[in-house]
Amino acid sequence: MLLATLRIINTIKNMHFHIVTLFPDSFSSYFSESILKRALEDKKIKVSFYNPREFTKNKHKRIDQKPYGGGPGMVIQAEPVVRAIAKAKGRKRNVKIIFFSPGGAQFDTSYAKKITKKYKNVVLVCGRYEGIDARVRKIFRAEEISIGPYTLTGGELPAMVVLDCMSRQVEGVLGNFSSREEERIASRDVYTRPDVFTYKKKKYKVPQVLLSGNHKKIDEWRST
Ligand code: SAM
Repeated sequence: MLLATLRIINTIKNMHFHIVTLFPDSFSSYFSESILKRALEDKKIKVSFYNPREFTKNKHKRIDQKPYGGGPGMVIQAEPVVRAIAKAKGRKRNVKIIFFSPGGAQFDTSYAKKITKKYKNVVLVCGRYEGIDARVRKIFRAEEISIGPYTLTGGELPAMVVLDCMSRQVEGVLGNFSSREEERIASRDVYTRPDVFTYKKKKYKVPQVLLSGNHKKIDEWRST
């Protein structure tokens, strides 16, 4: 009973993601399909965009300059990003600011759970080119997160990954909340009908244990 009560208190009802990006349009196709589309429509999650280009003071809307110390590529200047983040933060207190970098701390489900339990507002700051002037991260004491040991061209895909994973922690985003794989024994290999699938005259069978109805054995099989 106590556990059930604690669970109810701990569930996250909704979240607001604030995405700082030079390319807000790149998110539209992912957000207009399937589970995240429904989550947005049901107001379980809300997404707002802040384009640093809209926060520049120069009339050409330029946001990048050459790196100090030399080197290839361009660096996104501090001021437009600071102003975009400040706008996203507003006067809210309950805000987590996350920067993306291939060299950041590895993102995982437990980090997503920790953040969603604690913060209702998450600001995701997407870098591009050679990255964002490092002083911005210092100003906001933001955390730097990596989605894996590889370098992408921008922080938009990492933002989608993080937003997707965090949204799963919000009650009602998945049709059945207890269907979150993170909370149960799930296996990489899953099967559905038919129990025997024939391809090029060869028969491929579903593992017998999954047809046995013995849930203890099924859980054992799934956790191997
Ligand atoms: N030298 C930059 C650094 O270490 O952050 C890399 C710049 S990378 C070409 C451009 C942007 O893509 C980064 O600023 C970051 O936002 C994003 N990015 C690239 N790979 C990433 C990864 N594995 N995880 C998270 N963000 C990544």
